[in-house]
Amino acid sequence: MRMGMRQIRLLISCIILVTCFAVQAQNALAATIHIIPVKGVSKDLANEFGSITSRVLQFYQEVYNFTPAKSIGIVIVANEQDYVQRLQLDGYSKEQAIRTAKVSSGIFLNSNPFVTANDGATYTFSFGKIQYSNPTIIICADKSTTYIPRICTLTHEMFHLMQQELKGNNPAHEWLVEGSARAAEFVLLEWLGKGSLASHRHNLSNSLVNVKCMADPNDMKNGGFTWIKLIEENMYPYQVSEAMTDYLLRKVGKPSVIRYFALISETGDRNVAFRQAFGMSYNQFVKDYKAYMKQEAAAAGRIKFDVEGEVAPEVVRTISGNGVAIEQMLRSQGWTMTMSQRFVLVPNADVMQNVLRRELYQINEGRWADIARRATIAVIGEMNYVYDTGKTVTSNSDINPLALVVCRDSILMTAQPSLATSIYWLYEGTAQLLAAKATEAAGGKSVANCHQEWISTIRKAAGYPSLTQMKSLLPTVTSRYKGDVIYATVALAAEYLAGKTDSGALLRYFTVLRDHNDGPQAFQQVFGMSVEAFDADFAAYLNAQQKESN
Ligand SMILES: [Zn+2]
Repeated sequence: MRMGMRQIRLLISCIILVTCFAVQAQNALAATIHIIPVKGVSKDLANEFGSITSRVLQFYQEVYNFTPAKSIGIVIVANEQDYVQRLQLDGYSKEQAIRTAKVSSGIFLNSNPFVTANDGATYTFSFGKIQYSNPTIIICADKSTTYIPRICTLTHEMFHLMQQELKGNNPAHEWLVEGSARAAEFVLLEWLGKGSLASHRHNLSNSLVNVKCMADPNDMKNGGFTWIKLIEENMYPYQVSEAMTDYLLRKVGKPSVIRYFALISETGDRNVAFRQAFGMSYNQFVKDYKAYMKQEAAAAGRIKFDVEGEVAPEVVRTISGNGVAIEQMLRSQGWTMTMSQRFVLVPNADVMQNVLRRELYQINEGRWADIARRATIAVIGEMNYVYDTGKTVTSNSDINPLALVVCRDSILMTAQPSLATSIYWLYEGTAQLLAAKATEAAGGKSVANCHQEWISTIRKAAGYPSLTQMKSLLPTVTSRYKGDVIYATVALAAEYLAGKTDSGALLRYFTVLRDHNDGPQAFQQVFGMSVEAFDADFAAYLNAQQKESN
């Protein structure tokens, strides 16, 4: 009864509130786009989707040489509840509509009833009370509240439209249907100057090699509700299919995926189309892909280098060599690295700023300029960094900035940031000490030399911070001390602590922390004393060091 009332209300509101207006992109396109806002969607929001749509059509024309043949309706619904109702109007059962709306932010519906397979059974969706004479995309507005996710959702659904026009109602491999639509989102972002495929690919690979249980390529041959089940069971079918598509397209080139969908309608057989478009059988591809993912998993924890701009080959060689030395040093300490780090080597601050502008498009121009001027290495996303090689001498003795970032973040990514920094000085100090060890291992400055520098910094300073005071971020808690005094203090503390136990104890602490989730307890367990007791002990040690100099 309640459902019935709602449906009637929705139908009335459709009649009253559905206003259609056409968005004509500048270049003469064959198709007309109708933006159809449903109740609760403002005129401004509808306009925003109108301009987003024009941009997406321009993208498809420029990059994929595709212009939709038929007019398209883009229905904008305000929220998940309305989305569910809309799907029910389109012939979904209530249960199907709820599950679909929960896991998606948009959907493409072809005007013809489409067929989907569910555990081998085939059934047909008919279109309910509202008949579309044209393809329709439904977008759930409040599932993506900013420009980037909105334009990505539309790009994704528009790719499905392109597939439909090419292949007709013939079934394709579902992972390639979804994977290529998802890959298009990141092609778009690069085209917009917002992010890069390379950093996205790196992040995707990092997350997939750490997934314990993921969808198997052969589970994703068919779509429909078998697919939704995989999403609900956290088997990451989208991520897996995207990685598969990316791997495939890097082998055979982007245009061949367009050929594949066209060949499906020509041959009526997805496996024949696969072989003809990509020059290998589907089964062979799955075998190759699995071997590739095994390789990726084995290479987890690698430090990777890309180059942008004119960086001298010997500089690239030196820095890559330093990367290998740091990796070896960390592994020799019994440290397991679960994620890879990627450094984009650039020749100067100008190129650095370009990379920052592209990857960190959310922050303003002033910040990029500031970071590019001051930082040698800056973070540009999960485990992606840009490294200005012009700012360092790039000899072996100069690997400290690289070592520091690698060591610091390999701790963070293993132990989780909030956990790793729960005893802040220990996290910073371990990273400093490891960086010094990596520098020595690469034939640079010795750890003994670093030790002397830390001591002399402390001696010159008027005072140094107490370790237990450094409970949170260094700058706020210890603002009355200069950076070099703070770093010298934490490095000496880590060195002193390791000296009291053994050299592997520092990294062992972070492993215990990861498993037990309690900083002070992990400290007690690994070092055999409380944090407070160590702080007092260390203060006495530093006082003695200062007296020696007097
Ligand atoms: Zn999709």
